Amino acid sequence: MDLQRLLDWVLPPRCGGCRRLGGWLCPRCLRAIRRLEEPLCPRCGRQLAFRHDWCSCRRRMPHLARLRAAAAYEAPLSAAIHRFKYNGWRALARPLATLLTARLAVDGLPASQLVAVPLHNARQRQRGYNQSEELARALRARLGLPAPPGRLLRTRDTPPQVGLDRLRRRDNVAGAFAWSGPHGGGEPVLLIDDVVTTGATLEACAAALKLAGFGRISGITLARVSL
Ligand SMILES: [Zn+2]
Ligand SMILES: [Zn+2]
Repeated sequence: MDLQRLLDWVLPPRCGGCRRLGGWLCPRCLRAIRRLEEPLCPRCGRQLAFRHDWCSCRRRMPHLARLRAAAAYEAPLSAAIHRFKYNGWRALARPLATLLTARLAVDGLPASQLVAVPLHNARQRQRGYNQSEELARALRARLGLPAPPGRLLRTRDTPPQVGLDRLRRRDNVAGAFAWSGPHGGGEPVLLIDDVVTTGATLEACAAALKLAGFGRISGITLARVSL
């Protein structure tokens, strides 16, 4: 057992949203999380004012066939994700993954291969774990799915996307990923990440998976930042 898991076991659980003792996501915070509801763009999952509203996402994400987020990136979920990502609250993976299963219960599970968006090695070493992989693992366990036969790698470190506009986000991550594993054989894949803003990172991952021979690529995230 590594130190973090030992700490999770010894320390009483606290809510990732409000730090209240008793559980990793308390009922009050769970109720306060704003789920994204229809009408959503059938492709990128952005909330639309009206059904059949026009959305320009197809041009921006040619490889990612469908993207869904469980909830809006707002408090208290944003606080929980921050603690999960940056403060070592690794135990939040399981309760946060239930948000993904709830979303998948609405949308259907589009693939049996669940692949996490990778961190660059240096960043993962610093953080100790990749939050997206933790989510993917918790989700696979919940759904009884095996680990995929390979993984995505970040082939170059990219500056954080925060503060970049849409175009610069796209250029920042384009070609930054590669599949390490057997040929995809046309299999569909569901990409897992914690937060989506423009979808540029997920699109770059989808392009790498397509190049490796995978079929339809979709993505799901915990939260969506509305621009
Ligand atoms: Zn709470
Ligand atoms: Zn769209």
